[in-house]
Amino acid sequence: MRARLALCLALVAAPLRAGADEAPPPVTPLPVTPLSVTPLPVTEVAPGVFVYAAPYELADPENEDAICNLGFVVGGQAVAVIDSGGSYLAGRRLLAAVRVVTGLPVRYLIDTHVHPDHVLGNAAFAEVGATIVGHAALPEALAARAGSYLAATERLIGAAAFAGTKAVPPDMVVTAQITLDLGGRELLLEAWPTAHTNSDLTAFDRTTGTWFLGDLVFSGHVPALDGSLTGWLAVLDRLTVRPAARVVPGHGPATLPWPEGAAATRRYLAVLAADIRRLIRTGATMSEAAASAGQSEKGAWSLFDDFAGRNATAAFHELEWE
Ligand SMILES: [Zn+2]
Repeated sequence: MRARLALCLALVAAPLRAGADEAPPPVTPLPVTPLSVTPLPVTEVAPGVFVYAAPYELADPENEDAICNLGFVVGGQAVAVIDSGGSYLAGRRLLAAVRVVTGLPVRYLIDTHVHPDHVLGNAAFAEVGATIVGHAALPEALAARAGSYLAATERLIGAAAFAGTKAVPPDMVVTAQITLDLGGRELLLEAWPTAHTNSDLTAFDRTTGTWFLGDLVFSGHVPALDGSLTGWLAVLDRLTVRPAARVVPGHGPATLPWPEGAAATRRYLAVLAADIRRLIRTGATMSEAAASAGQSEKGAWSLFDDFAGRNATAAFHELEWE
């Protein structure tokens, strides 16, 4: 609260010191005050771009649901954070990582999609005044699932790690594209048609060509299908024709080369689609499909057995009406 007040005063004071046609003075950084939590370990993958590369794990008390990649981009006047982690504690630890690097205010938190490991840390950024930005479909998707996401997360990580966790909806939504200004540094946000989920949003840092793709790209950790298999393959086609210096996958190493970094996700989804179509053609039941579709990919991915059956079931539901 005190930080927001200081920022407001700085903005109010600006016209007194600068003419209307002059650039605003730089925002005075807030004092770098260590938070009382351990900062998440982050790597600077490009100048001013930091990524927490999460382990390939399901949510549990030890990882506090900090199980997806998270990041932040530092501009001349402000910071944008990409995804907040799966608990308030994970969000606080990400904020602590920001504070190790800079005292600039977190102006934006960008939610890449509705999944709990990406958004349940939102409260940690809402309370320091960040504007939360998401896909236009995110408010409804989050409202529909918040109850079950919160209950499941508390059960998985335990009451201590879960303390303070809330489902905080976006303040601002993106229907097509918007550009966020961090002070001499622009982030292009784009909302995509249903793919991994119905609320996939990407963030491209124009300064370094670093593209945060959320869960539109996985590496190492098996992809999870919760939107549309055919939609996801179509969106990958659109993503991979674009240049980027590097991408940050939602699950995988901190960065991947582009467009090669999409190859494994595309291969898995294509195998799943081909298997499901063949099984439907030959009259297989849903449970037979769940047990066999995509199994040739088993050796290529972590957490394969945790997601393969669900992915096959979702694909069967989608493709049986083709
Ligand atoms: Zn996801």
